[in-house]
Amino acid sequence: MKALVLTAPGRFSYEDRPEPVCGEQDVKVRVEAVCVCGSDVSAILGRNALFIYPRVLGHEVAGTVTEVGPAVRGVQKGDRVALMPCISCGHCRACRKGKTNCCESLRLYGVKEDGGMQEILCAPEKNWLKLPAGMEARTAAMIEPLTIGAHAVGRLSFGEGDRVLVIGAGPIGMSCAVNAAARGAQVLLADTNETRCAFCRSRFPFGTVNVLEDQYRQKLEAFTEGEMFDAVIDTTAAPASMNHAWEYLCQGGELLFVGIHNKDLTWNDFSFHMKEPALFTTRNSTRTDYEKVLSLIGDGLIDPDRFITHVTPFEKAADELPLWVRPETGVYKGVITF
Ligand SMILES: [Zn+2]
Ligand SMILES: [Zn+2]
Repeated sequence: MKALVLTAPGRFSYEDRPEPVCGEQDVKVRVEAVCVCGSDVSAILGRNALFIYPRVLGHEVAGTVTEVGPAVRGVQKGDRVALMPCISCGHCRACRKGKTNCCESLRLYGVKEDGGMQEILCAPEKNWLKLPAGMEARTAAMIEPLTIGAHAVGRLSFGEGDRVLVIGAGPIGMSCAVNAAARGAQVLLADTNETRCAFCRSRFPFGTVNVLEDQYRQKLEAFTEGEMFDAVIDTTAAPASMNHAWEYLCQGGELLFVGIHNKDLTWNDFSFHMKEPALFTTRNSTRTDYEKVLSLIGDGLIDPDRFITHVTPFEKAADELPLWVRPETGVYKGVITF
């Protein structure tokens, strides 16, 4: 079988590899679609210092089961499935509390283990989500990034009609936005990139505001009738944004950091404290989030296909992916099909 290997930043090669052997608890899947994530882009660009090459990327994966191990009970040959890429230990404190998304020894397919950019992927049954009949593979490969938003908004207590500001209008920001809207929130998106804002307005039912314009704060006040936001979700991974995100909260609001970076955050405690805000972070997602997203898609409250702007067949991915990471290509969400 063929595997697309990222051998060094910006360099892909196809390798012929033996098919993996299906263990007791394993499910072997013929991969049909893999979406490309922002973290894949960082690996391709060599911007993630912790990333180890060579690696087969791909943690947003869907396909069809071709073989199951003798101990597998929940899926069978021919079932269509999506990958749940978190590999958790099952016995640390986080795992025992059901927080498998922040297991102390967490690894991910496509990051620490080879992922879905290969013709066959074998993983334990607990890493696969059974799909409803008839769901397109590319749609199913979008479930994982949608669960990131589902888990993120699941941290927060806002309700129907509450106002939510999502800072950073990339696919993960939009994943948070569509999940917040599905819960009935009034969502506003903020970004520094006008082209991206215009794209988002053309595909999704949200208003946008440009962080860099002089009237930014006035526009946030206008959207919230001067009360500011019940929740602010910062997906930028940029300290310049994260240091100020709390300023857009209403009294008693909730601040959530989705984007992550390796620098210090600083702000004035007194002003922050006077709002009595709550501060949350979020990592990855759990099976519950996958089931939630499946039901939202089934109810028509989330349309994964709206995210996808670029599609390439697997045979051309080695040439296409280095182009997709360039901003001028205009990729919002790209998908590799098999
Ligand atoms: Zn991802
Ligand atoms: Zn664990």
